[in-house]
Amino acid sequence: MRIIIMGPPGSGKGTEAALLIKHYNIPHISTGNIFRELYKDRTTVGKIAKEYIDRGELVPDDITNEIVRHRLTHADAKKGFLFDGYPRNIEQAKAFDALLVKLGWKLDAVINIKAPDELIVDRISGRRVCESCGAVYHIHNKKPLIEGICDLDGGTLIQRVDDMEETVQRRLRVYNESTAPVIGYYEKTGSIIHIDGTKSIAETDSAIMKALGETN
Ligand SMILES: [Zn+2]
Repeated sequence: MRIIIMGPPGSGKGTEAALLIKHYNIPHISTGNIFRELYKDRTTVGKIAKEYIDRGELVPDDITNEIVRHRLTHADAKKGFLFDGYPRNIEQAKAFDALLVKLGWKLDAVINIKAPDELIVDRISGRRVCESCGAVYHIHNKKPLIEGICDLDGGTLIQRVDDMEETVQRRLRVYNESTAPVIGYYEKTGSIIHIDGTKSIAETDSAIMKALGETN
């Protein structure tokens, strides 16, 4: 199974990605993770990529496409893959198509998990994290027994900068602007599956499996 998964932060994309890689026994390929590993391994390409990422910019397409090409030469990719965070723009989508043609492979599905911005802002900005153990709570959906205090160790619950409303709004704006054309591109090629990300995890799971032709 060869899948691309797309969805804004807070859409449940990570949860669904984990489900799919387990179900199909395929590698989860995230270009962000590959760049982080390359940086940890002190490679030149890792250092270059980090400079772009730290400035909040996209790593140049030629570098990203080459990383992807190389990743697909690994033996595990023969079973299939789940791409997450790639392609990020139309140029990358076209390069990826050309690469797949060269490999003689075909994409099975592009899964696009959708959720309204207000819901995402509520999901993310409601998160609270324990300062000492990192346990995650939510002001509506997963309240601690005592407000502001971690159930596990009595630590103080804080809101991460990444989870603050303004940050979430900004991330969503960037996400929507950059991925809308990619979604349009895959709508034209016909392989896109739109999934309602406002439902429970179980409902989203079964909607995806049904769309992929799995009966359960
Ligand atoms: Zn704690």
